[in-house]
Amino acid sequence: MTRQSFMNLWGRVTAPLRKQNTQRHGGSHLVERHAELAEMLTYMRPAYSVAEDQFTSRFVDVLPGCEMDAFGNRYVTVGDKPRVMFSGHTDTVHSVSGRQKIFHDTELNQLFKNDTECLGADDGTGVWIMMNLIRAGVPGLYIFHQAEECGGQGSSYIAKEEKHRLDGIEFAIAFDRRGNGDVISHQAGGRCCSDAFATDFAERLGGKYKPCDGGVFTDTANYTHLISECTNLSVGYYNEHSKHEYQDLNEADELLTALLAVDWDTLVASRDPKEIDEHDWYNVEPVEIEMGYDELLQLTMNNPTLAADILFDLGCTFRDYEYAKRTSGSTFDLQVRGDVMDDGYIEDLEDDERFIKDEYDGYADIDGNRLDS
Ligand SMILES: [Zn+2]
Repeated sequence: MTRQSFMNLWGRVTAPLRKQNTQRHGGSHLVERHAELAEMLTYMRPAYSVAEDQFTSRFVDVLPGCEMDAFGNRYVTVGDKPRVMFSGHTDTVHSVSGRQKIFHDTELNQLFKNDTECLGADDGTGVWIMMNLIRAGVPGLYIFHQAEECGGQGSSYIAKEEKHRLDGIEFAIAFDRRGNGDVISHQAGGRCCSDAFATDFAERLGGKYKPCDGGVFTDTANYTHLISECTNLSVGYYNEHSKHEYQDLNEADELLTALLAVDWDTLVASRDPKEIDEHDWYNVEPVEIEMGYDELLQLTMNNPTLAADILFDLGCTFRDYEYAKRTSGSTFDLQVRGDVMDDGYIEDLEDDERFIKDEYDGYADIDGNRLDS
């Protein structure tokens, strides 16, 4: 039996069950707050798309006192003169705008997809956490950035044109990081917060959170010259920007619970935003660090596509390959296997892991008409 026909059969067998679930609660075993997140993730919302607009008007514009700037960034202020800014972004890396079907793994309590597009928990989950903090009355300036995924355009705009909104802000905390334990201290090649803050904040979050200097980029990197302590926190999504992206709902809950218990008034800001850190990459001469063969082999095995990219950029040809093979005495034969991406190991593994699943029925078309059974 092919995988497809098995899935069809599985769908028919479980259809009556799903119907019951629909009546029981919003089409799945999801508790209400998770059903809301799943519903948010049904929007595929590349920057400046119709679906991003619909998503933002449905979930963000309805928040109390929501304002918009000329670029389309949204702002919500809770409390008087907040010291903390919370940051997320409304766009995703989907290749199309529209709606999508989400699945819930009831055993692992994870949301995931079964097609070629990403889930969009990067950064739907960040937006969802901000919505929950606002509802809980946590004082702060909440910025829902536009167009993070195409180079942080929304936050660049704010840093230039809307800086006055950041007056009095000492902490910028983004919810836009994979995994379950990072308090990011360095991103975009430079320091974004002090080690003292990263350590203290990680302790306040408890659990698995630890300072991490391996950040890539999110909007708060665009504020490091304006705001003392800028960071990014893990929100429990994994494999972002790919069809294997999933969201661990327990980890999102753990973070939310921890955030609700933080005493924000006692946070201490110590980094001078004007000071250039010795570790900022743009401030030091590039140093070539040679890699040993074992290190290189390990990196290649961990990251074969990156290795292929490097070889491709270096102009590696079949002749190079044949030559290396002859001179090294290797018997490995190069095969061009076009099916590796679609029928590869990861997907097969997922099918096993994802055997018990619940279809999330909050699916609707682009006009918002519900399509559930
Ligand atoms: Zn993101």
